[in-house]
Amino acid sequence: MFVYADNAATTRVSDAVLSAMLPYFTKHYGNPSSTYPLGQDASAALIRARETIAACLGCLPSELTFTSGGSEADNQILRSAAAWGRQHGRTHLIASAIEHHAVLNTLEDLKARGFTVTLLPVGPDGVVDPADLKAALTPTTALVSIMLANNETGAIQPIRQLADLAHAAGALFHTDAVQATGHLPIDLKNNPVDFLSASAHKFHGPKGNGILFARRGFELTSLIFGGAQERGKRAGTENVPGIVGMAAALQEACDHMAENARRMEEARDTLQKSLSALDGTRVHAGTMPRLPGHLNMAFEGVSAEALLPVLGMAGICVSSGSACASGSPDPSHVLLAMGCTPDEARSSIRFSLGDDITLEQVHFIVETVTREVARLRKLHQQA
Ligand SMILES: *Cc1c(COP(=O)(O)O)cnc(C)c1O
Repeated sequence: MFVYADNAATTRVSDAVLSAMLPYFTKHYGNPSSTYPLGQDASAALIRARETIAACLGCLPSELTFTSGGSEADNQILRSAAAWGRQHGRTHLIASAIEHHAVLNTLEDLKARGFTVTLLPVGPDGVVDPADLKAALTPTTALVSIMLANNETGAIQPIRQLADLAHAAGALFHTDAVQATGHLPIDLKNNPVDFLSASAHKFHGPKGNGILFARRGFELTSLIFGGAQERGKRAGTENVPGIVGMAAALQEACDHMAENARRMEEARDTLQKSLSALDGTRVHAGTMPRLPGHLNMAFEGVSAEALLPVLGMAGICVSSGSACASGSPDPSHVLLAMGCTPDEARSSIRFSLGDDITLEQVHFIVETVTREVARLRKLHQQA
């Protein structure tokens, strides 16, 4: 059996999305900036895609900028808000300790350029406490950046409340919604956030395509200079097939959101219940509102570094909470922020189920993990 349970890392491009993209490689391959009909076909597709995505998110098409992914959107938003802050005498930036590295490492760079940064803690449940934000805000805070849902635990953050607090202090508010978009309802008409980032490959769209939302009236600064594409805010010939695919994927995800969530949640809860029956396990952020497919668990006495390749060989694709993909044994900054010991963080595994998960696959995961955890613990005892 094969189970792809690492949908927080990336997702499979859906068949409908691929079909929607293909004509834009070989038939409507014009440059959207060209004025003849072939170019205008591409330009019309971009307009349609922007309208589709705007309708899914409840914003104006003109509030969207297409980027190369979630990382670029995060980078551009943070730098734009920092530039705004510099103009307005605000050089303090706030984020949570559990943000993605696209946010954390951009903040590191801004720190080297004279900004001060406060990282908010999270509770053992992996959620930011609005009282901590309230205490951290100052009259010089330019931006607060808190993700909508965490990529490692799935924990959903109280962003409305946090955005209101930021605004009361005169600061802007960004949410990295890369994990949430296509999985949780987002309605920007009725949501106070100023900026949002999303990425197509986390909702069955193609890799290398991102969405940047900036509320009307805010002037973004560019990261990439050149032509006048994306209203001069993101130069470079647009990735038309990718953008078409991204819009198709988001539409598909939004059309089936409730049923997908129900299926994933049911499978996830079954998985959680069965694996929790093993000795020495603990679920991270298990009592909080979570993304429907996420389950992050610690298996005491077993290192993820040992367990992951074994599961991979058995046909199960999952990942550790930690960013040890590149062989770096650093424990997850998210789990550490939640108060886990480095050992517990290193023994944690993230399952992120897809919307096509079956009960047979869940049983296969339970059976395999149960067997391998027992085997590795025994080996460990003998050693
Ligand atoms: C995947 C991810 C990103 C990065 O998105 P890319 O499109 O891969 O650059 C940023 N933030 C979060 C929360 C993510 O899960």
